[in-house]
Amino acid sequence: MTEHNAALLKQLAESLSSPKPAGAPEFIPADAPFDEDQRVWLEGLFTGVFAIASAAKAGAQEVPGTPLKILFGSQSGTSESLSKDLRKFAGTQGFDATIAELDSITPADLTSLNHVLIIAATFGEGEPTDNAQNFYKALMADDAPALPATLHYSVCGMGDRSYAHFNQIGRDLDARLEALGATRAAPLVTCDVDYDDDFATWKTATFDSEAFKSAAGAAQASTEPEAPKPAFDKTHPFLGTLLDVRCLNGEGSAKAVNHIEISLAGGGVDLDYAVGDALGVWPINDAEEVKAILSASGFTGGETVTLKSGPSTLRAALLKMLDLTTVTAKTGEVWGVDIAPDVQVIDVLEAGIEGLTPQALVDGLRALQPRLYSISSSPKKHPGEVHLTVGEVRYDLHGRARQGCASTFLGQRCPHGNAVGVYVQKSSHFHLPADDTAPVIMIGPGTGVAPFRAFLEEREMRGAPGDNWLFFGDQHQATDYLYGEELAAWEASGVLNHLSLAWSRDGADKVYVQHLIEKEGERFFEWLERGASIYVCGDASRMAADVDEAIRAVIATHSGKDREAADAYVEDLKKAGRYQRDVY
Ligand code: NDP
Repeated sequence: MTEHNAALLKQLAESLSSPKPAGAPEFIPADAPFDEDQRVWLEGLFTGVFAIASAAKAGAQEVPGTPLKILFGSQSGTSESLSKDLRKFAGTQGFDATIAELDSITPADLTSLNHVLIIAATFGEGEPTDNAQNFYKALMADDAPALPATLHYSVCGMGDRSYAHFNQIGRDLDARLEALGATRAAPLVTCDVDYDDDFATWKTATFDSEAFKSAAGAAQASTEPEAPKPAFDKTHPFLGTLLDVRCLNGEGSAKAVNHIEISLAGGGVDLDYAVGDALGVWPINDAEEVKAILSASGFTGGETVTLKSGPSTLRAALLKMLDLTTVTAKTGEVWGVDIAPDVQVIDVLEAGIEGLTPQALVDGLRALQPRLYSISSSPKKHPGEVHLTVGEVRYDLHGRARQGCASTFLGQRCPHGNAVGVYVQKSSHFHLPADDTAPVIMIGPGTGVAPFRAFLEEREMRGAPGDNWLFFGDQHQATDYLYGEELAAWEASGVLNHLSLAWSRDGADKVYVQHLIEKEGERFFEWLERGASIYVCGDASRMAADVDEAIRAVIATHSGKDREAADAYVEDLKKAGRYQRDVY
């Protein structure tokens, strides 16, 4: 080896090996047949290769997935739980996803993001959910910021096609993001109540889109400990047993609200729930309605039809698998008829459909869905049981008596001792304060009292020293005082520190819960100043909005500040989780 070459090799070796990485092995055994120059060169080479290999290995472990923000607007918890599933899936596609409520960010926060997915439910009359209101308002406002084209987004809307403003929020967000300059990665998908297929289509289209495919990092194996998946869910319900049904209204009431008790014992596996959660119930249709539909369509029920789950007789499909009420645009398409507004399945069939086959009949119907009810018991007080408070839905339409499928199944048709398919829908947005000393104000007229019976049972069983105040109301004290005896007993025992009752049809003037909030405004504000949390449950369309208004007015009056300051006070309550609503 010439002197020059030896020097070059030494230089190369130094550049590769300097400094020698910690943990680099001694590569050349002492008795190997190399002279000093060769030894230096080879050591350097191996050390350099080792360093490069180590760096590559470390890099492979640490290459982060591409950041992805998944935002949800959820009322009943469906969009939230889909977001959680989506986050896991995103990890397998090379994205490092985080999930958050839409209201946790502002439109300005979007400007620094490159990949955003939104799952947004539409609620009530085309409104955003409680945890999406501020974001929605800010995004739709005239002064919303321009968004960069480097922001790639895709929106999945969740809704119910039987409502006039089907998926309004999903549509609005999708269109507005594009108008502000962001780039749509995949088209908007608007899901109906049977969302599984549409959601899967949206997920595939999004992650297969150019913007997502080209940006995907290395697939990530999740390093987080996984929350245990519930043993039972919507598609794998637990078979509870109907124990008891008791009407809570007295004779002469215009309503039939039933207290339902379901046993969760058996099978050796527990169905866990917490107060504030909802219970999903799989109903079975009314056999009389099935008969009417068969008669109107001219079938016997013995015909064989094919559903997603496989073949079935038409009668069994109508009884257990299909929604016998709702007609949608798809119904009209499949049956080849124009659908008039405000009609139900039986109305369309009775009008007569030419050439309808049993298969077309089922293809035009929506899949039967479970109903969610706020749980009205504490598992601490009733181990192995879950209780519900369900008003039977009955009304007249086009001169025909109609009924709600699930509320009458539970209240009238399901025999005691029969199995009921149920699952728990966790509620992350409606739960008691962790601090048992914190005061709690509960506002729940009508069936809205359900979760508050559960809250009071829970606070009683926990021996929680915090004060409890319940606002309840309904039409008449004599016939509609739901759980009146239990509430009186809690008042007597001191669990319930304050009970405000609003009977809307007992006097000349309507008295509603919000009137009592205003009347007792001073005390209400004093409780808030003591750290009380407010909970509202029940009718979303009128009550919840009027109660919200009363709360703001009371805060403005008794804080001595103006309305703007009261609104800011309410925003702070919401942010602190001290103003929670379960409204429907
Ligand atoms: P409601 O909310 O219908 O009635 C409870 C009490 O609230 C009544 O005294 C009612 O008075 C009063 N009320 C009416 N308007 C307001 C308002 N703007 N602000 C405050 N209080 C008001 O109770 P339900 O439990 O019957 O129904 C609750 C919600 O659940 C409603 O949205 C209903 O559509 C829905 N629902 C009801 C079922 C049922 O059969 N009960 C079943 C399924 C769903 P008044 O009526 O005298 O005006």
